This record gives sequence, structure tokens and C-alpha cells, in this order.
Amino acid sequence: MSSLFTKIIQREIPASIIYEDENHIAFLDINPMEKWHTLVVPKKEYETIFDMPEWEFLELQKIVYKISKHYENILDCGINILQNNKTVAGQEVMHVHFHVIPRLEKKAFLNHDIWDTYSDREMQAYKEKLTFG
Ligand code: AMP
Repeated sequence: MSSLFTKIIQREIPASIIYEDENHIAFLDINPMEKWHTLVVPKKEYETIFDMPEWEFLELQKIVYKISKHYENILDCGINILQNNKTVAGQEVMHVHFHVIPRLEKKAFLNHDIWDTYSDREMQAYKEKLTFG
């Protein structure tokens, strides 16, 4: 079954499309964190960024850059660029997308009150586990 975003691409459901080329589309998020909140989507229906060939991911990022830069120019504000991948990371629509969120209002974006902490020894253990290359 087609994803929600494929249905938007195929014009089966309406959206406020702000950019489109052969391989990408961008439209306003129906439930924005702030006005202008935009989703940038590859037309090919990959579930997560890890299903994409790296070059297609990089092409997508170029479009994210272009749109973010445009918003930065016209709105003169900061921009959050967010990519949720997999359900555990907050992904709800299983079709790759970047959120481009111009920050015009001073709303707290991430609630630091609920963030976890490490003890020093624990942090060292994680560092040892995660270091590579
Ligand atoms: P995520 O949680 O990263 O998967 O984000 C999915 C986003 O899609 C949410 O921010 C939703 O508000 C947005 N969304 C869901 N349905 C629509 C729609 N029909 N048009 C535009 N945005 C949508």
C-alpha cells in the first residue's frame, strides 16, 4: 500500500506543495511545530534513510539545504532541521522525510527536564563501546 506521502506525490490527497522536482517534493506539515514547518520528501518510497543509497540521501540533503536557505533568507530566523528515523526515534510516517522548521517563536524545542544523565564511569564505558574508525 502506498504511503501517505506517496498519495500526496500522486495528488491523491491534497497538500500545500512548496517545491517539486523530478525526485523530491516539499510541502507544509499539516500539524506544524511552527508556521512554515515543511516536510522534504524523496519521491521514491524508502521507509528510512538507511534504506536509501548514500547518494540519494545526499541529493535529498541538497534540497533540504536549498529550502532551509530560502526560508532563512526570507524569514531571517533560525531553522531546525530534523530527521526522525524508525519508530523508536519518533518516525510516524514510514516514508523518508526531513522536517525543516523555521523558528520564529521562542518556544522550547526539546524538554531538557526529561533528559538522562551519565555517571563519569558509565560515560567512559559508553565512549569505549562506541569509538570506531
Ligand atoms: P514523523 O513523526 O517524523 O514521521 O513526522 C510525520 C509528519 O507528517 C508529522 O509532523 C505530521 O504532522 C505530518 N503529516 C501527517 N499527515 C500529513 C498530511 N496529510 N500533510 C502534511 N503533513 C502531514
